Amino acid sequence: TYAGNQAMQARVLAVANQKGGVGKTTTAINLAAALALADQSVLVVDLDPQANLTSGLGQKLDGRIEAGDLPAPLTVYDALTSDTQPVLEDYLLPTPIAGLSLVPADNSLAGAELVLVNLARRERRLRPLLEQARHQFDYVLIDTPPSLGLLTVNALIAAQAVLIPTTCEYYALEGLAALMATLRRVQATFNPHLAVAGVVLTMADRRTNLGQQVAADVRNVFGDVVFKTTIPRNIRLAEAPGHGLPVILYDVRSKGAEAYQALAMEFLSRTGRAAAATEGTTISG
Ligand code: ATP
Ligand code: MG
Repeated sequence: TYAGNQAMQARVLAVANQKGGVGKTTTAINLAAALALADQSVLVVDLDPQANLTSGLGQKLDGRIEAGDLPAPLTVYDALTSDTQPVLEDYLLPTPIAGLSLVPADNSLAGAELVLVNLARRERRLRPLLEQARHQFDYVLIDTPPSLGLLTVNALIAAQAVLIPTTCEYYALEGLAALMATLRRVQATFNPHLAVAGVVLTMADRRTNLGQQVAADVRNVFGDVVFKTTIPRNIRLAEAPGHGLPVILYDVRSKGAEAYQALAMEFLSRTGRAAAATEGTTISG
């Protein structure tokens, strides 16, 4: 069926949570890297003005023009604001992993929300670029900023499913309720097929009761949508971006690298099913 195909093809995923610092960028980089090393062709798209994903993969665009290090590549800002149909090839940068490509951001993206407000189809500006990408890559992961503004809405409209990292803190559930409300609005207005691909529990600490309790609460509310794999707090995950590397290249034996490889395996085995099971139901539940 159409719905079935839609779910099986849920290959363009927005990594979203309006709460800051919950592991969106870390998950986008390291899940993408693990998928690429599992022979998938993967694209990551940096839609956050902080450009942490871009620098975490070893590309530092800010200051590149000043340094005379031309030509400056096109960034996601150009794709969002251009009047002409973007050509994906013009936006792709390599990363330290062969099967992983990057559409970068730089700090010009900080001005995008203001510019977008005055443009036609302001919520749908990312979609044309990603329509090309979904035919060329097995998976596309979009990293979003910690807000539910126009940038994140553009990601949710360009995506087929949303991947939600959350920490196991007391306020996590409240934040997830606000995110679900936004997903329902996007579904109702722009993207009826938007599914929840999964909730990823991040920075988990087995030693705290509170963390365990919140994790249990999240699993109660979201059920099977929550990945069985949890990502532990691991210093290597925090260190790797400073070296411009996914953790799997920085320290393959670390707990963080192991966790994201396990997440990638679980993700591959269940992407289609998870998206199908949650479409329309979890978001309204
Ligand atoms: P923002 O909302 O600002 O974009 P984010 O949701 O993308 O933040 P990250 O940048 O991925 O979150 O993570 C926040 C900080 O925590 C970073 O310094 C990151 O290196 C660190 N971090 C992320 N996951 C882990 C982990 N499992 N263990 C230890 N540190 C982590
Ligand atoms: Mg981030």
